[in-house]
Amino acid sequence: MPFTLSAEKTAAARALVAALPAGARVCLTTHVNPDGDGLGSEAGLAHLLQAAGWAVSVANPNQTPARFRFLFDALPGVDRSAEAVKEIRKADAVVVLDISELGRLGMLGEAVRERGVPVHCVDHHTGGGELPAGRRYVDPTAAATGELVWELAQANGWPLTREAARALYVAILTDTGGFRFSNTHPRTLRIAAELLDTGIDPERIYLDVYANAPEGRVRLLAEALDTLVVEPEVGLAWLTVPPGALDRHGVSADDLDGVIEHARSIAGVRLALLFREIAGGRIKVSLRSVGEVDVASFARRFGGGGHARAAGASFAGTLGEVQATLLAEVRTWLGARTGSVDPAA
Ligand code: AMP
Ligand code: MN
Ligand code: MN
Repeated sequence: MPFTLSAEKTAAARALVAALPAGARVCLTTHVNPDGDGLGSEAGLAHLLQAAGWAVSVANPNQTPARFRFLFDALPGVDRSAEAVKEIRKADAVVVLDISELGRLGMLGEAVRERGVPVHCVDHHTGGGELPAGRRYVDPTAAATGELVWELAQANGWPLTREAARALYVAILTDTGGFRFSNTHPRTLRIAAELLDTGIDPERIYLDVYANAPEGRVRLLAEALDTLVVEPEVGLAWLTVPPGALDRHGVSADDLDGVIEHARSIAGVRLALLFREIAGGRIKVSLRSVGEVDVASFARRFGGGGHARAAGASFAGTLGEVQATLLAEVRTWLGARTGSVDPAA
């Protein structure tokens, strides 16, 4: 079955692009602690928009992690995250990628709101959120925002260069955990195949993203794994990033990508958690589930969000306090769900 885009999606994809005035200054942004999907979608869309005549910049709430800097090698001067607020103040339009919520833009949320220009959005998160007025291209059934950027190109007849294809492949590769997670739909692989058809090298991309790690990433993993606690009776496993560990190993939050998968990989675990301290005296909790456990709805209770099997939230308090409170909540929540999961599923 070849890839087809519905009439509604085609119209929405064209309407978003039609809303960008010709030659305008378009600023792309994504959520705090940007990941491969946010950054790959930005780099992919930056290539596509530049080729179609727009002046594009990227202004993110955090600097681009070392792992993903290669995405901007062929986009000189585009990643202006070091002066993000200044960049947003110059924009004629903003496109928010991989999130639909002003609050998740961290310090930039206020600048985006104050700027008063249209704020368009391309995203695949569930639960929506609040953004200033603009066009929306949101589909929670997409594995990655990168898929949706590919659809924008398709609907608008934009040719895909290798550079754009490589960036969108990174977006899809990372958000599907290397095409392993439940969001890996036939459509995901069809789009990935279209990307590979441009001649990009999947092994080179794998090596750039996953096999170019600083030593500290592996040492951090070792420390985090050492904290593993498993409660087989409730199907719960959790890990804690020891305070100060990122600094000690000279790495960033991005280097924690995938650590939680080790907790989720244990037989019988239905919910895995990763706790870590973040700025402002807050604790970030990542949640990953197996089967029918919808962690996005659980995270939303605490002001967080995400996807059915991958979500996050942040809490005020010390590590000990947040762990005690949240683990109690989780045990009750999982306990109430006992029997709702078919062990054979
Ligand atoms: P993470 O655990 O940070 O890898 O995030 C997993 C998923 O949950 C991603 O789709 C995030 O965008 C989302 N997410 C993480 N933290 C939050 C939060 N504090 N609020 C809303 N969504 C979040
Ligand atoms: Mn993301
Ligand atoms: Mn994503």
